Amino acid sequence: MSPLLDDAEVPERVRRALTKEARRQQRRIENAKKTAAKVRNEHGGKDWRLKNGLCRQRDGNRCVFRCQSQRLGVQVHHWRRTVGAGGKNDLIGLVCLCAWCHDGAHTGRISRGQIRDALLALHPHLAAELGEGA
Ligand SMILES: [Zn+2]
Ligand SMILES: [Zn+2]
Repeated sequence: MSPLLDDAEVPERVRRALTKEARRQQRRIENAKKTAAKVRNEHGGKDWRLKNGLCRQRDGNRCVFRCQSQRLGVQVHHWRRTVGAGGKNDLIGLVCLCAWCHDGAHTGRISRGQIRDALLALHPHLAAELGEGA
């Protein structure tokens, strides 16, 4: 006898669970694609190169959360508003994040408030410019 199960022998509830998992997997892939597209969209524009460089200079080209590992690289993120949502490349709205934190900022693992606090901890003088709220 074959050690493999015949399709007809797979219980219905197992089959349903497998289908559900496959759909979940598919959703994860779709979400990752959307995140990548968002990141691409907000990192364009005329003065992006200039502001990108200034932001890296201000933050010491390190994640503002001062993550130990910079192995995955440091990226500049629009933490206040994405360009797609009408945001501008104003230096105050940009922040250096490591790839892990950048992903967190786009998936909601890291909030705007947390980024704001990290930015202010590094650069207290920005408080006046930021005012109350983000
Ligand atoms: Zn970003
Ligand atoms: Zn980080």
